[in-house]
Amino acid sequence: MHHSTPTIPFVDFTFQHQPIQAKLDQAIQKVLQRGDYVLGQALSEFEEAFAQACGTVHGVGVASGTDAIALGLRACGIGEGDEVILPANTFVATLIGVLRSGATPIFVDCDPQTALIDLMAAEKAITPRTRAIIPVHLYGQMVSPRKLLDLSGTYDLLIFEDAAQAHLAERDGHRAGSIGLAAAFSFYPSKNLGAFGDGGMFVTQEAIIAQTMRSLRNYGATRKYFHTDYGTNSRLDTIQAAVLQAKLPHLYDWNCDRNRAAQRYDALLKPLADFGIFPIENHCGNGHVYHLYVIRVTETCPIERSSLQSELAELGIQTGIHYPIPCHLQPAFQHLGYRAGDFPHSETLCQDILSLPMFPGLTDSQIDRVVDAIQTLVETAANSMPPAVPALS
Ligand SMILES: *Cc1c(COP(=O)(O)O)cnc(C)c1O
Repeated sequence: MHHSTPTIPFVDFTFQHQPIQAKLDQAIQKVLQRGDYVLGQALSEFEEAFAQACGTVHGVGVASGTDAIALGLRACGIGEGDEVILPANTFVATLIGVLRSGATPIFVDCDPQTALIDLMAAEKAITPRTRAIIPVHLYGQMVSPRKLLDLSGTYDLLIFEDAAQAHLAERDGHRAGSIGLAAAFSFYPSKNLGAFGDGGMFVTQEAIIAQTMRSLRNYGATRKYFHTDYGTNSRLDTIQAAVLQAKLPHLYDWNCDRNRAAQRYDALLKPLADFGIFPIENHCGNGHVYHLYVIRVTETCPIERSSLQSELAELGIQTGIHYPIPCHLQPAFQHLGYRAGDFPHSETLCQDILSLPMFPGLTDSQIDRVVDAIQTLVETAANSMPPAVPALS
């Protein structure tokens, strides 16, 4: 392809990694010198620092965010026979985590403006078997802690946050991960805090639950060669923990920079509401950490989402869709018995959403170029539409 202008990537790590390259190298070298590759010193240091940053007490590093959910639910005593409520429009890992714990996933729909779980729908889905709710802080915006705590208080539900997209997010005075009993984080490279590979963390306020989780991630051993739980091998590598520990002090500033970029997008995109383009609403203020910046290309927009995406790609602007198919319609999970039409808001969002480039260091001129391109494409499409048929009177 021939572009007169450079590509705007969907994610670019240069701004994060280049200024601290020496620090990252040192952190890795230190692990290599110590040779404590598994369950090493940098892991326990990072677990403590990250748990504290989230406003929690205990952190247990695991191999992925998916494992943090799957093993974490078990550490909280959730398993077979228990129902767990989760949104239909989440990354499939939330669902996989629930299924691997042995519990029964119960989907609910989302709010069409925020894309967050609809807590009124959640309340209606509660049965005598419901043990937990998994609020997913989608795109970096927290589900209302106040409403979650009300719900969990009224129905004696355990809150297990999927905070994989919401490192250091805040709402109603709560940090993501600290609302309820426990939470799961992911350090997949493109997350707000990303490793140089896979990684995850389980955080909790309760010592006993943390202890169970340490056993579950380490073959179910409470001491060497003594296995009290049916565990697995899922530890956050010491090298990854060292990398994450070196990046953690910068996370707050990176999240602020994501907010700066989001605010510019918000302002520039406002006129496009006339063409049926709306950003996902932010009810979280600056506590939103904008893992993703997502717009809706609604039915009234003169250009279809798929054309908009491919034409932006032609112009060197990378975008994404998070996510194109809701969990309940994924082929692998048809046995759960859900059908198209069950969760209309989630299904419509999957058709409408488009994630624009978003990362710390995204420049104002890059943002301007993205919005200019969208505006030009939308206006061109609007002008080439056949004139509306005049109403017969
Ligand atoms: C990334 C993500 C996960 C899974 O994390 P992995 O580290 O990729 O296993 C779970 N839930 C949500 C919402 C995510 O975005």
